[in-house]
Amino acid sequence: MVLRKGVPVRSIVATKKSYRAYKEDLRRDFANRCGYCDALDEFFGGIRGYQIDHFAPKSLFPEWLLEYRNLVYSCPFCNRAKSNKWVGNEKTVPNDGSNGFVDPCDPDLDNHLERDKHGRICPKTNLGRYMITNLNLSLIRHQFVWQTQKMDELLGELLVLQERLSDDTEHYRAVLEEIVRVTREYREYRRRAFEA
Ligand SMILES: [Zn+2]
Repeated sequence: MVLRKGVPVRSIVATKKSYRAYKEDLRRDFANRCGYCDALDEFFGGIRGYQIDHFAPKSLFPEWLLEYRNLVYSCPFCNRAKSNKWVGNEKTVPNDGSNGFVDPCDPDLDNHLERDKHGRICPKTNLGRYMITNLNLSLIRHQFVWQTQKMDELLGELLVLQERLSDDTEHYRAVLEEIVRVTREYREYRRRAFEA
């Protein structure tokens, strides 16, 4: 299965005085998702819980501190794991084919990583393996977040189906209603748990 919902696209953004000032722009361009693990920021308390990653690390390439095309909307887990890791000395060369990273806005990322049916992030190539290790993408929480996002999508599908059912399918309807109820309760619990 695919790694993520879609490939984020950075819009044209005028240069700002501080890289932190780009956070709203990044959130919009990355559709509220971490560029690396695809988790929605609602799982980490929204925009305040998310961080700005410098794809080419700012400690190595300070001249790109304010370069919007170098910024990634990131969950704290991926940002911390990536830290100042970089292969080679060129800020425009993020990998050597088997070590390094792929910019989340590059569709090529999907050639290196995928999901199994449980939502686990799996390598398709050696470069994918490098990223899983160096971004800590095997953390169980990435799988948990993916599963809960999936549950929300399924709930949406169920609600559409429920509308279409006729009266002679009463039992089926009752089961569906129960699933909707339990999933909603779970979602409410999860929302409170992650907001705390
Ligand atoms: Zn992440």
